[in-house]
Amino acid sequence: MALGPEGEDIDILDNFHENFMNAALEEAERGLREQEVPIGAVVVQGETIIGRGHNQVEAKADPTAHAEIMALRQAGSALGEWRLTGCRIYVTVEPCLMCLGAIRLAKISQLIYALREPKSGAVRSKIGAVWLWGDGKLEVIEGVGRERSLSLLQSFFAQLRNDGSRRGTEVWP
Ligand SMILES: [Zn+2]
Repeated sequence: MALGPEGEDIDILDNFHENFMNAALEEAERGLREQEVPIGAVVVQGETIIGRGHNQVEAKADPTAHAEIMALRQAGSALGEWRLTGCRIYVTVEPCLMCLGAIRLAKISQLIYALREPKSGAVRSKIGAVWLWGDGKLEVIEGVGRERSLSLLQSFFAQLRNDGSRRGTEVWP
């Protein structure tokens, strides 16, 4: 089961979205192996993945190197076109305000994310909502692949706690 933008149930008719979310989750797993907060994203045109990315803020020492940004950049390069109208983006965690902005600027048509992010997720926050729903061009589906995404984040933060790291762990205990 997935939740729509107003929290309503949305029937997933088949595994269509799950298959692409699995690709985003594989990207998140790459992040986990690289000791980044494990978040992944893919951009899909029709049934073809045209961009992949995972969080690389540590490796690149770049606060903007979020999974969505990496995937959007690759998709733009693949098409030679920044307008990704008609494309979908699959993300393992609810996008932050920066990424939601980038998704809107890219004219992405559908956002599918796995796990709600209570701290910095922008889709459900009031500030995100104004821009997101203003012209109603972005459809959002929440909850596809939620359990797997949560388990990746929990493993990551559990490892940090074992290592005695002080990095924030309050969102996914
Ligand atoms: Zn982000």
